[in-house]
Amino acid sequence: MEMKELLEMGKEISLLGKFMTLASWDMETETPEGGMAGLGEMMEYLSGLYYAKATDPALKAGLEELSTQELSVRDAAIVRKMKESFDRMAKIPQDEYMTYQAILSRSQNIWAKAKRENNFELFKDTLKEIVYYEKKFAGYNQTTEKSLYDVMLNQFEKGFTTEKLDEFFGLLKAEIVPMLKKIQESGIDYKKPYEGKIDADVQEKYNKKLAEYIGFDLSRGVIKRSEHPFTTNLNSDDVRFTNHYYEDKMESALFSTIHEGGHGMYEQGVAKELDHTAVAGGASMGVHESQSRFYENLVGRSASFWTPIFADLNKAYNLNMNLEDFMNYINRAEASLIRTEADELTYPLHIMIRYEIEQMLFKDEITVEQLPEVWNQKVKEFLGIDVPSDAQGVLQDVHWSGGMFGYFPSYAIGSAIASQIMAAMKKEMDVDQLLLQSELKTIGAFLDHHIHQHGAIYTTDELLNMMMGESFNPQYYVDYLKDKYTKLYHLN
Ligand SMILES: [Zn+2]
Repeated sequence: MEMKELLEMGKEISLLGKFMTLASWDMETETPEGGMAGLGEMMEYLSGLYYAKATDPALKAGLEELSTQELSVRDAAIVRKMKESFDRMAKIPQDEYMTYQAILSRSQNIWAKAKRENNFELFKDTLKEIVYYEKKFAGYNQTTEKSLYDVMLNQFEKGFTTEKLDEFFGLLKAEIVPMLKKIQESGIDYKKPYEGKIDADVQEKYNKKLAEYIGFDLSRGVIKRSEHPFTTNLNSDDVRFTNHYYEDKMESALFSTIHEGGHGMYEQGVAKELDHTAVAGGASMGVHESQSRFYENLVGRSASFWTPIFADLNKAYNLNMNLEDFMNYINRAEASLIRTEADELTYPLHIMIRYEIEQMLFKDEITVEQLPEVWNQKVKEFLGIDVPSDAQGVLQDVHWSGGMFGYFPSYAIGSAIASQIMAAMKKEMDVDQLLLQSELKTIGAFLDHHIHQHGAIYTTDELLNMMMGESFNPQYYVDYLKDKYTKLYHLN
């Protein structure tokens, strides 16, 4: 088989996949409750076609032939990626795959209802089925991995095994837990700098402007509303994200915009020629999160970022906040219940809770029924607080309803990579000065050049090495957190 032929086959698979992406985007943003079943049926039909294309024996033969040939870096990466997903897919019997897709097409809606009504029972049986299939599929794919959970982790982040993650989280835990305790004892409590509610439509309008300000291109992107903010794309010229506007918590949508905008700009920055190949999109989930967190935390929570636009924000929301109060508030650290609303310091603790619970679930140490109870225990252990309801506990995240076990660690890995990238960027440019001058383009260009344009051609470590001659190193992240919170809370 010629490479050209493989690219054509790959494109067909991608196009089918993108119809499914479009259908699930619609389910999250537009589909009326009564239309869910109909759309689910469409998805099921499409996933059958997708499966048939993705497991075509001609594809297998072609991939085997091409993997022995001398290819360009890009083509070799495409062959490697396609071979990996072919092997993963071909190990799953078609009827099981399709049954599972049908469950997934309904499950997000069931989860959303259970969360809305604060009723874990409504979601329990669906979640049991999802866990059953995820474990089963992981079993089919277990080769060199030490455990089923390692298989799950490997899908999202190559090379980040439980062994490596235990070390990473161990380092973080040793630094963060005592620091949080010191902060709690400091008696400093930064108060919310505004009162009243901000209308959701007003917020939507401002957030659109903010997305454009950071560099998200709305002529090649769109922003809608959903229960939980997320980003998706059909190709690099059609990138979409959602937001959720809380009227009494306007900062929530601001940081979702900056976060999802970071994901979106990554997708918009991938070289056009990679569209519909196996290396379109981000290098890994962790690298994707590094981009969203780079913008959200390292850029978006800095005074240099807000200084030039702060008057605009006050005006748009009819407020009279003081910049220093706003900065202290959006950077404060306190134990809280909801991961997506958590501050930068306690955020990794929320991830560790999920990491430990998922491991227990995949080792059969706990059952789905026990999840609420175990969840509440872990929150008490890590954050020292009681969970008043499952909606604010075990039901809060969308991930498990999509079968995404093993994904959460990527958020923490992403934060660590973001700090490493910032260190590299600061060697080349005065980032604060650029932010003060609203020169976000220069920052975006650095990321485009070193990360975005390459899509998934290189692994996480290869990208970092090409950028700064160093592999993944969480020390930058730990140093950053220590420095930031020591200053903010006058520790030492
Ligand atoms: Zn994200």
